[in-house]
Amino acid sequence: MLTAPARFFLAAGRAVGDSALELLYPPLCMSCGKRRAAGFCDACLLEIFSSLGPTCGHCGRFLHSPGAACKDCRQTEFAFTKARGAARYKGLLRALLRRFKLGGEIHLARPLGAMAADVAERECAGFDAVVPVPLSRRKLLTRGFNQAELLAESVAVRLGRPLFPKALTRLRKAGKQAFLTRAGRMANAEGLFAPRRGLFARPPDFSGKRVVLVDDVITTGATASACAAALRSLGAREVVAIAVGR
Ligand SMILES: [Zn+2]
Ligand SMILES: [Zn+2]
Repeated sequence: MLTAPARFFLAAGRAVGDSALELLYPPLCMSCGKRRAAGFCDACLLEIFSSLGPTCGHCGRFLHSPGAACKDCRQTEFAFTKARGAARYKGLLRALLRRFKLGGEIHLARPLGAMAADVAERECAGFDAVVPVPLSRRKLLTRGFNQAELLAESVAVRLGRPLFPKALTRLRKAGKQAFLTRAGRMANAEGLFAPRRGLFARPPDFSGKRVVLVDDVITTGATASACAAALRSLGAREVVAIAVGR
């Protein structure tokens, strides 16, 4: 004996198909698993976006007070045109990005990718190409996926622009970025990325093009800047770095 909602569920399913069914009975929030939502529920989104605050107009760093000049931008010359993150890399967002990247919860690529795509839609209208920050070959083998590439797919689909997942390559091991000073990180990342060249692969020609660079997180901006430099060596006129966490 079926309950009335179950009967409705079945009838609706036969009548309108799966996607509309998801709207009627959305799955559980991928963050908390408690409330129904396509992606993240309102409570989780509120928590993620609760501490946005003012940002640096150039590197996108979240600042403590509006109008304050960004220290990083005064000290560093970044190769990207600008960088932007969807929200602060802390608390719930940090936990979600770690579940995605280190815990292998690949299904989180969709809601997290949507956050990156929202930023890209705002900041990169009319851009020509989307490129993810590459992983080292070893990390790709152990992890099985490049988190930046999965996020970049969402961005490329939203912008309706081609994705170039193999445009860049990571040249050598970065070392322990986390234990380096800011200047050390910048120097360590410099020259770490290059256009991927192989026997049968020629890097794309980005002459005069505007390129969206995608990563899961931007912290110091060293990695994004090094990738932007490599994209500029392919002719890119403008490179905007987009991340979920900033
Ligand atoms: Zn939730
Ligand atoms: Zn800045």
